[in-house]
Amino acid sequence: MFRRLFVPILLIIVALAGAVGWHGAAQMRTAQHDDMKEALRQEARLIHFLIKEDLGAGRAAEAHRRIRGLGTAAGRRVTLVATDGKVLADSEADPAMMEPHHRRPEIAQALATGEGISVRHSDTVGRDLMYYAWKLPEPEGGVLRISVPVAGLEEHYAALTRGLILFSGVALLAAAVVCFVVVRRQTAPVVELTRVAERIATGDLLVRSSVLESGEVGELAKSLNAMTDTLAARVEEERKSRAEIEALLAGMDEGVIAADLQQKILLYNKAAAGLLDFDGAGASGKLLWEVVREEAVIRAARESLASGDRKTFQVGPVRNRHLDVSVYPWPAAGPPEGVVIVAHDATESVRYQELRKEFVANVSHELRTPLTMIKGFVETLRDGASSDPVKGPEFLATIEKHVDQLTNLVSDLLELSRLESREGLPRRARVEVASTLTRVVEFMKPAAEKRRQSLELSVNGRLPGVAGDPDYLERAVSNLVDNAIKYTPEGGRIRVSAKAVGDEVVIEVADSGIGIPPEDVSRIFERFYRVDKSRSREMGGTGLGLSIVKHVVQVHGGTVDVESAVGKGTTFRVRLPAIVA
Ligand code: ADP
Repeated sequence: MFRRLFVPILLIIVALAGAVGWHGAAQMRTAQHDDMKEALRQEARLIHFLIKEDLGAGRAAEAHRRIRGLGTAAGRRVTLVATDGKVLADSEADPAMMEPHHRRPEIAQALATGEGISVRHSDTVGRDLMYYAWKLPEPEGGVLRISVPVAGLEEHYAALTRGLILFSGVALLAAAVVCFVVVRRQTAPVVELTRVAERIATGDLLVRSSVLESGEVGELAKSLNAMTDTLAARVEEERKSRAEIEALLAGMDEGVIAADLQQKILLYNKAAAGLLDFDGAGASGKLLWEVVREEAVIRAARESLASGDRKTFQVGPVRNRHLDVSVYPWPAAGPPEGVVIVAHDATESVRYQELRKEFVANVSHELRTPLTMIKGFVETLRDGASSDPVKGPEFLATIEKHVDQLTNLVSDLLELSRLESREGLPRRARVEVASTLTRVVEFMKPAAEKRRQSLELSVNGRLPGVAGDPDYLERAVSNLVDNAIKYTPEGGRIRVSAKAVGDEVVIEVADSGIGIPPEDVSRIFERFYRVDKSRSREMGGTGLGLSIVKHVVQVHGGTVDVESAVGKGTTFRVRLPAIVA
């Protein structure tokens, strides 16, 4: 900027100075010539005046002598030439030796016009001379010529030119300095503004111009600062709203991906990366198909962009997960500018549906068996067996057993559903585990005695309380003891114990029964799962007892596990968090 202004201005100054100097010098030279010519003319008039008399009186020799004398005195060469060109007198040479002069340019000119001038080399004096010729008025006639060496003139002229050049040089230098200072002053704010604008362009929105000039540049600086303020505010707003969106997206369980018209990813959240199984770092800016592996999602995005329609579908299982996916174009109105993909983890609901179906099938099956039996025995009784004194009561007893089984089943189902809906757990009281266990053992004792089993209770020291529902906890423990009695052969041993371990109360129900095969251990807490169906049914089991135990323990914040060896016995261990005093 500085150079672009300074250099042309300097060039203009140099050119102007050169032109003025050259023109001035030429003018001066002309003026000098004119002055010299005028001086020579005056001198010629003077000489003529002085020799006029001698010439008029015919005293030629006297006139010639006077010419020589005048020439020497004036430092000029003076020549008198006759009209025919013959040299009559010369102040520096012998006229007799000189050739006729009528062809000399100045003389020819004077003869023609009365006056002539010429600058040329004189062979007679061997120098460059300026000649001025004047045609003398009649009656004298002839031409009087005065000449002067040009050398002096040229020297004078050269001195003048040198002076002019020197003066121009100094003036030029001064002009250059002034020009430099002025241009620098004028361009400095513009240079500063350019620097500020460049920094803004690179994204530095904190920079401001310090130019305080008045006038256009100052206005420009003010506008630039105001513009940067607005821009910074906008960027900050943008950053905030993006941060808000990102925080919102980060807090969502749903996976969200927003892409533009070219399917380039603009935004996505961690949940999306997790659900659609892609690398959660650096997916922004990539194309959808480079990141998402689910063909159905990519296809839906493409179709949605093309048609502007919303698409909802289910994907899965992807890594054991089912997803509900919605793809819709944005903005809501107008031509699509991109798509938003929302993926929701539907695994739970899919699994729940499956469980529900399975449960209904299981329940129906469990109900059908005793109902079929009851119906069969009722028909047999109606067909005459009722009057049979032996079979009648026997069949009725069987019917009663199946009715009991149904009753057990229905009450277990009710219990489970209450536990699942959590309606059944309104109480959260302090439960003393020792007294709960005592009650259970007391209650189950007759059943154990019936099978000649020993049922022992051992509680180590004072137990801390447990927060929860005493009835449910009692129910869970009695289910375990009931199982121990059922799956332990006659004469076996059952031991119920409790102790405090750390912050927990650990209840154990151990038996010396038939045990559970290792492959079944992990499944016995499932609903309706039984190792030996007929044996369980024979014993009045529903296959729901352990499910109830697991639920009760879970809602109390505890865990239940089992250790078993086939033919040796089984130990169920329930851990419940103790109330920390
Ligand atoms: P059930 O009503 O059949 O007893 P549970 O849910 O209480 O149903 O138990 C599921 C299955 O686990 C039982 O059918 C039985 O096969 C096995 N089981 C439970 N407790 C014991 C135990 N103490 N010893 C051996 N097997 C057991």
